[in-house]
Amino acid sequence: MPIATTNPTTGQVLKSFEAMSAEQLDAAIERADLAYQRLRDTTIDQRGRWLTAAADLLEAERDETARLMTSEMGKTYAAAKAEVTKCATACRFYATKAAEFLADEPADAGAVKATRAFIRYQPIGPVLAVMPWNFPLWQVMRFAAPALMAGNTGLLKHASNVPQTALLLEDLFRRAGFPEGAFTTLLAGSDAVDPVLSDPRVRAATLTGSEGAGRSIAQIAGRELKKTVLELGGSDPFVVMPSADLDRAAEVATTARCQNNGQSCIAAKRFIVHTDVFDAFAERFAANMSALRVGDPMDDTTDVGPLATERGRDEVHAQVRDAVDQGATVLCGGEPPARDGWWYPPTVVTDLRPEMRMWSEEVFGPVAGLFRVSSYDEAIEVANGTTFGLGSNAWTRDPREQERFATDLDAGNVFINGMTTSFPELPFGGVRNSGYGRELSALGMREFCNVKTVWVG
Ligand code: NDP
Repeated sequence: MPIATTNPTTGQVLKSFEAMSAEQLDAAIERADLAYQRLRDTTIDQRGRWLTAAADLLEAERDETARLMTSEMGKTYAAAKAEVTKCATACRFYATKAAEFLADEPADAGAVKATRAFIRYQPIGPVLAVMPWNFPLWQVMRFAAPALMAGNTGLLKHASNVPQTALLLEDLFRRAGFPEGAFTTLLAGSDAVDPVLSDPRVRAATLTGSEGAGRSIAQIAGRELKKTVLELGGSDPFVVMPSADLDRAAEVATTARCQNNGQSCIAAKRFIVHTDVFDAFAERFAANMSALRVGDPMDDTTDVGPLATERGRDEVHAQVRDAVDQGATVLCGGEPPARDGWWYPPTVVTDLRPEMRMWSEEVFGPVAGLFRVSSYDEAIEVANGTTFGLGSNAWTRDPREQERFATDLDAGNVFINGMTTSFPELPFGGVRNSGYGRELSALGMREFCNVKTVWVG
């Protein structure tokens, strides 16, 4: 993929970049390593002041930053502004909480009497972050804020279609005061990941992206014996039971499916509805989806902008066609408009069967699969019936059912009567083919720490 900004509303290339040479990559790794030697010796207070300065800059420059993101990947300007604000919040959260998350933890060493035993959290060095285009600022920030606060340095290999947001991030941390090399953007394609991660100075990697990219990075890291955190795709279930508030469920279902133009790993993608309320829910949901306004992402009245890439749009349409050709029913949408840019209408498809791609694959666009089930057990079977396990949603007012869903849904998070979201305070990540490791909260910060046991006799 060329490293370039391409306007998704027109398909026009706006700005292209040269990939960095092997020598430039090597120099960037060297700077990250040197910066690590300095950063690890700074105090948490000092790093907190730099991260707070980054939050201040983000807030002061929210509108320009949001406009840049919209121009690179097509999310609505309103969503882009909210993303910038969320990043500032995460910076403040880690700037404030790092002292608590990194404090020595006294421990009881059990049978062998120690004068003192404790756990100390220490940084490990430069970490490679391979990141996607869908939340070009937030996906990076949820790695960068805790990593920098812990004293690690970051090497960002961002998705090739968001190079200007990638450069903005490097500039942000530099202007906030972090030492030169603490956070570096590598303008590079995915072929650079192997040599960079194989370099002994690079200590670990985190990836948010597709399952294929995850497997590839995990293989390299396995060969090199390096730690990885993987946040991969998902096909989140959204289960609606008879006791649910149907109006609210249908409203949230629409937002949960079409947020970020349908391109979110934790978007609800499969709507699994009890037969007693299926028709009533389907009618409301299809009506809400049809009412969404598709258009210019800079326009305040737009709900859904274009998809980020032509390949992504074509893939979504191929998945819908595959289902329709095998007998699925389209309740709304289903045909991209004949115009420049990579548009796709909010779409609801039902009568799905296991042999159709939409049954088991992730659909990365505003397309909902609607499934009818006749019991709690069948709902769980369909909900857990893919290889993914990232987020999940269940709608029920029955406390006993709420408790059962919390245990039975095989996913990294369960949201009851609400939409899956990420918060700095709560861990985020998946199970099965959705990846491993956790981001955010204290756990996210400690993923890239040496959790050192200290025993004093
Ligand atoms: P990718 O996984 O291809 O891209 C994500 C990042 O990984 C990019 O920086 C990309 O670089 C890099 N990358 C891709 N392949 C490799 C590889 N073999 N080794 C190392 N790095 C690699 O996602 P796409 O943009 O192609 O989207 C495809 C699908 O991935 C989506 O349909 C969706 O299912 C899933 N996805 C999930 C996301 C999530 O939030 N969990 C986010 C984005 C995508 P480059 O851009 O240079 O190719």
